[in-house]
Amino acid sequence: MEMKEITGHTKLVCLLGSPVAHSVSPMMHNAAFEALSLPYRYLCFDVKENSMKQAVEALRLFGARGFNCTMPVKAAMAELADELSPAARLIGAVNTVVIEDGRLLGHNTDGIGYMQSVKEAGFSIVGEKMTLLGAGGAATAICVQAALDGVKEITVFNCLEERFWKMERLMKVLEQESGCRLEIKELGDTKALEKSLSQSRILTNATSVGMSPHDGACPIPEDIPLPKDLIVSDIIYNPRKTKLLELAEKNGCPYFNGMYMLLYQGAAAFQLWTGMEMPVKEIKERYFE
Ligand code: NAP
Repeated sequence: MEMKEITGHTKLVCLLGSPVAHSVSPMMHNAAFEALSLPYRYLCFDVKENSMKQAVEALRLFGARGFNCTMPVKAAMAELADELSPAARLIGAVNTVVIEDGRLLGHNTDGIGYMQSVKEAGFSIVGEKMTLLGAGGAATAICVQAALDGVKEITVFNCLEERFWKMERLMKVLEQESGCRLEIKELGDTKALEKSLSQSRILTNATSVGMSPHDGACPIPEDIPLPKDLIVSDIIYNPRKTKLLELAEKNGCPYFNGMYMLLYQGAAAFQLWTGMEMPVKEIKERYFE
């Protein structure tokens, strides 16, 4: 397929945040537009929180189809949106905006991307228990989506920092809206972690511990027992195999990294903008394998 020529009808989608130059999103989305011969182009704009209002008004004025938000502007976007999806409202952060008749509709596809990556890896965690490490942006998105999608119980582990208490407050609302049983414990509480792992179907690392250049770091003690049938997932994708995933391999556990979360959060955004399914097989082969 050929890339559609830019004409007066070409629609703009883009990424706002800072930094953005390293992002794989332009390649992924432009390749998908090309594959389906869709008249769209995806660009990156380096925008910090204090310029978000202006940037968003400019995109609305120019009639852009929508945009993605990355760090550090996801929370600011939740304040600027005219409407929020249920997940974006609960998470308090937006990573995808659709502009519909001049109205900014805020979504969060990070959790959707994670849940799809679990399926892609060949597992079902509906009705099961999850142990989730971290209480930052990505962890919150995963916790909300997993609860909304029918995961039965989630125990989150984080240091006793600001985000710990924020997650605890969210859990009270989320528990009522989803029926999922939720609790948060201190990351250093090894006994509680061991107990939670022994009851869980999946362990998800959504902290940044182990991300390059700190490849040697592991978010849990390396001698903690990992049950053989525990699925171990790390949302980090650089490096591809983190210390935690090495530990999973050593213990004979099935495991996967954050590459497909990245792909499927993009695929969900693509569908929101175009109404069409991203040709993931082709994009996967080109950029994710
Ligand atoms: P964030 O909002 O800054 O949250 C970072 C989390 O990591 C917090 O819970 C933080 O705990 C914890 N953490 C950081 N350093 C720690 C340490 N030394 N010990 C214990 N906990 C520590 O970041 P984020 O946006 O959620 O991203 C988290 C990771 O996910 C990053 O590596 C990012 O690249 C990855 N990610 C992947 C995808 C994907 O598509 N695969 C999408 C989004 C993010 P405190 O509260 O104690 O600071």
